[in-house]
Parts: sequence; structure tokens; C-alpha cells
Amino acid sequence: MCDDSVVRHAHDEARRLSRRQALRVAAGVATGVSAAAVAGSAVGSPAMGVPAGRVVDLTHVLSPSFPRWPGNAPFASVPTSRVGASNSGYATNWVSFAEHSGTHVDAPAHKIGTGITVDRIDPADLVAPLVVVSIAGRARRDPRTVLTEADLVAFEKRHGRIPRGSLVALHTGWQPRTGGADAAGFSGAAVRMLVAERAVVAIGTDTLSVDIRDATAAHTAILGSGRYAVEALANLTAVPAVGATVVVGAPRFAGGTGGPARVLALG
Ligand SMILES: [Zn+2]
Repeated sequence: MCDDSVVRHAHDEARRLSRRQALRVAAGVATGVSAAAVAGSAVGSPAMGVPAGRVVDLTHVLSPSFPRWPGNAPFASVPTSRVGASNSGYATNWVSFAEHSGTHVDAPAHKIGTGITVDRIDPADLVAPLVVVSIAGRARRDPRTVLTEADLVAFEKRHGRIPRGSLVALHTGWQPRTGGADAAGFSGAAVRMLVAERAVVAIGTDTLSVDIRDATAAHTAILGSGRYAVEALANLTAVPAVGATVVVGAPRFAGGTGGPARVLALG
């Protein structure tokens, strides 16, 4: 990809820099990836096609202790080989988990009989402008509060119109809790407004469900429109209300109703 002399030149130039900076420069030149992408933070290089800014991981670590719905089996990981062991010399695990575990995608098929499965979500819909609407202040006092159309109008007065094709994430401050607790969610009316009038591709939440407990309106509204949802998002307070781009690494389980996803915010 790149001539050795260029790499050597980069090393010479980098000698004056700190060791960490030098490694970033060398890695960027040698691979064509920006220093920011290698370091996972700091300033990017638009000339190289990498978005400027930083990368925020919106994904929780999935472990056996991660909160889950009652009845869902916990995540399990069983070693099947070890580095240096005689059978292969490679380390591998056998993992099992319910589809809707950890930070995960709900495909339309999760709620709608004729809905598409997770492997059929259009990849173009998995990269979207990220909008984060917070109702955390209200949710602290009222755990069954929901995002309303009025909240969206108030949000847009402050931040401008929600872009078409966005993923609108709800920050409740509750984080995932076993059984969903009574964690705040979306109202069906707010989701219908986002779908019909803002043409969102998806909604997301920092709790285990886009609905409050025992409700289904938000799931029905988003999945019924052929869009998807992302639940149990992490780090929503580390991204701006508007302006970032989200990348949803949805799995392609054949016929899957959803599944754990790596979700990243860029910029
Ligand atoms: Zn789900």
C-alpha cells in the first residue's frame, strides 16, 4: 500500500515527537488510516475519508451479569480451546445468549409477523445522523414518564429540525435494569411523529426497552413502519444532542429478530 521510504520518512519526522505520537504517525502513513482512527480519538483527516472528531462507543460490555428480561437466559461463554493447547493452539469460546441481550437491535420481525428480519435491514439505514433527546430530569422523578410530541417540538426549538433519516436516541438516565424496571420510554404518538413527519430510520434508548413496562406502543410504531430500534445504548451523555453520526453494527443472523450490536458514534 505504501513504499518503505515513505514509512522511513515518517519515522524520521516522528523522532522529534513523543513515542505515542510517533506510533500514530507511522501507523497512519503505513495503512492509509488516519492517526485519529488508529488512536481512536482526537482529530481526523477528512482528506483520507475518515470523519473528523472522535469515536464514542455506545455499546455495553455483554457479560453474564448484564441486566436482562425475566425468562431470558444469561449470556454464557465457555472456553473450547486455549492458546498453546494441543488441539489447535488458538483460543476460542462457545458463546450463547438470547437475541435481545446487551446493546442490541430489534428488527421489525421482533413485533410484526410480516416484518423483515435483522439480516435484511438495509445497510444504508445502519449509518445515520444521531439525535439524542434527554428526559432524564423528568425520569428521575417519574420512572414511567414517556417522551411526548411536545418534547420533540421543544427539542427542535433548541436544536433545529431533526434531520431526515436520523436515529433518535432517548436518554432517560435509567440505564438497563433487570426486568426493565419501570424505566422511562417513548410514547407511541412521539414515535409515530418521528416516523411520519421526520422519516427517522430508527429509535434507540439507554434502557432495556423503548417502551415503558407493560406498554407496546413504541415497539409497534417503529417496527410496524419497517424501521428498527436499538436498546440498552451506553454513553449517550458523551455525545452531542445533534451533529454526530451513528454506525449500528447489527448482526446478520439468518431469520433473526434482532441481536447484539456494536454501536459507535462518530464526530
Ligand atoms: Zn429488543
